[in-house]
Amino acid sequence: MKKHNFYAGPSILSRYTIKNTADAILDFAGTGLSLMEVSHRGKEFVAVCDEARNLVKELLDIPSTHDVIFLGGGASMQFCMIPYNLLKKKASYLDTGTWASKAIKEAKIFGEVEVVASSKDKNYSYIPKNYTVSDDSDYFHITTNNTIFGTQLHHIPQVNIPLVADMSSDIFSRPVDVSLYDAIYAGAQKNLAPAGVTIVIVRRDALGKMERPIPSMLNYQIHVDNNSMYNTPPVVSIYAALQTLKWYKELGGISVMQKKNEEKAAVLYDEIDRNKLFKGTAATEDRSLMNICFVMNDEYRELESEFSSFAAAAGMIGIKGHRSVGGFRASTYNALPPESVKALVETMQAFEKQR
Ligand SMILES: *Cc1c(COP(=O)(O)O)cnc(C)c1O
Repeated sequence: MKKHNFYAGPSILSRYTIKNTADAILDFAGTGLSLMEVSHRGKEFVAVCDEARNLVKELLDIPSTHDVIFLGGGASMQFCMIPYNLLKKKASYLDTGTWASKAIKEAKIFGEVEVVASSKDKNYSYIPKNYTVSDDSDYFHITTNNTIFGTQLHHIPQVNIPLVADMSSDIFSRPVDVSLYDAIYAGAQKNLAPAGVTIVIVRRDALGKMERPIPSMLNYQIHVDNNSMYNTPPVVSIYAALQTLKWYKELGGISVMQKKNEEKAAVLYDEIDRNKLFKGTAATEDRSLMNICFVMNDEYRELESEFSSFAAAAGMIGIKGHRSVGGFRASTYNALPPESVKALVETMQAFEKQR
């Protein structure tokens, strides 16, 4: 039976990415060696890294003011690297979920943190609006897509200070105006590659202004100066990322991805709203196009585990909601084909009929 992969992360990758990476693991670029056993400083892998960096720049239309670096440590490492490199005195954060609050916790180690607003009061089911951000903050940190709670910023806040964004779960899903940001970061395992590499896009002239000493491995400037080769980068993950980036380009780029994502999400949200057994958990205007969260409607709560088994039997994988929300979460990342959304919708309809 066909499996439909709705995991939130690590998550579905294109066959193109998986096949090409598997081929390179057997024989990398005609070297007769595995991708896993070659020097990261050899000309073949340096070419992979350069091409991946250039494709990130091309696909996201990154201005020449910004650099792209590939790091280890996951997005979670960025929770401390961002303030280490950019927080001089004070930074502002928007608390929209578990990942945002972890970023806030780390930033407090480095200086004053202004939490401008939080949606914790309603289990992060909406994106706060109408807040003010201090003009004297060094940056305003946002999480553009809240993977666990299924909310997404559909309007990037207009503030007078540079933005910093965790885009782990929606990078490459829609175009971005990179010029607004001092830094953007994203772990690979949601929309790009197997876990390992984290992409950081950083404005060059935001660096080098810190009085505190920064350990080399945590210093963006060191990684920029060394073309992401200060130490051994996550080679396999970067290679896989390059394949995904090539695939995005072949399909027509990021605005094509956005259109496909809007179409997929609309199909599933329409069914959640129509089907009497289910309801969405996120505020309608803040619904994520990447992580679609829903629960059984109140009068059908006791059917949750029955629907779980029913969906699993129909080939739906990874739709269990995060424990802090419960219910279900279908992640509809770039690589998820529309057929999988259709199959989930049909499963929801079949379950409704059988009642
Ligand atoms: C998954 C995720 C993270 C954590 O990523 P790691 O690579 O596991 O550190 C951080 N932020 C967001 C928005 C995420 O979705």
